[in-house]
Amino acid sequence: MARAADQACPLAERRRPLTPPSDDHQAGTGAGTGTGSAAQAPAPDPAGFDYRHRLRPTPYGWPRRDHWCLWIEPGASDGPAARWDQAWAAAVAAAVASWQELLPLTVVSDPERAQVLVWRRRPPLRGGRASHGRAELALLVVQRRGELALEPHVSVSISPGQRPEAMEATALHELGHAFGLWGHSDDPADAMAAVPGATPVRHLSPRDRATLQWLQAQPALLLSPAAAAGIESAAPAEN
Ligand SMILES: [Zn+2]
Repeated sequence: MARAADQACPLAERRRPLTPPSDDHQAGTGAGTGTGSAAQAPAPDPAGFDYRHRLRPTPYGWPRRDHWCLWIEPGASDGPAARWDQAWAAAVAAAVASWQELLPLTVVSDPERAQVLVWRRRPPLRGGRASHGRAELALLVVQRRGELALEPHVSVSISPGQRPEAMEATALHELGHAFGLWGHSDDPADAMAAVPGATPVRHLSPRDRATLQWLQAQPALLLSPAAAAGIESAAPAEN
């Protein structure tokens, strides 16, 4: 099992940041603006089945992948913290399982193999506002098995200080950002709702599924020759 995960998720031999991080609630005004046609929002779905028009690409294209490698912060297995850590881990696992129905994901034990890192921590205040979850995107030029590619690299923070259902809903939402849904739905029944409704959304809605399906049909990030050349001077990835 562990060997299969290593095969699917090779180690990073080198990597270097391409752009500064941008966060979920600023995706529309940060990474996605002002740099030409690749950064434009898509036109709405003519049939109105999804919220693709609320997503924003990066200047280098859509930060989506055919396969994701995910690392989840381990918790205590015994002692006083174990109960809380296990509740957090169960909520994250449930959210991962929901996305895994739609998207090939591999959970790895070495963060060097992952594009998504999930941390058990309360996100720091931003603009004086507290939140239970945050996803932050960086684009990295990464070499794996000798090949260079532009990869999305996402740090996800999920606060452990919530009820289990709320933690699961937070994890479902933030993982949606991580897997490329950088925008928010205007319908509180969707996992990617900008404003959560009274009941935590613990399952992906038909609109969430349709939006991801649309995203997966878009071209992925493209590594320009100039960006590829820059990695030669970069330090090897730390193991
Ligand atoms: Zn969000």
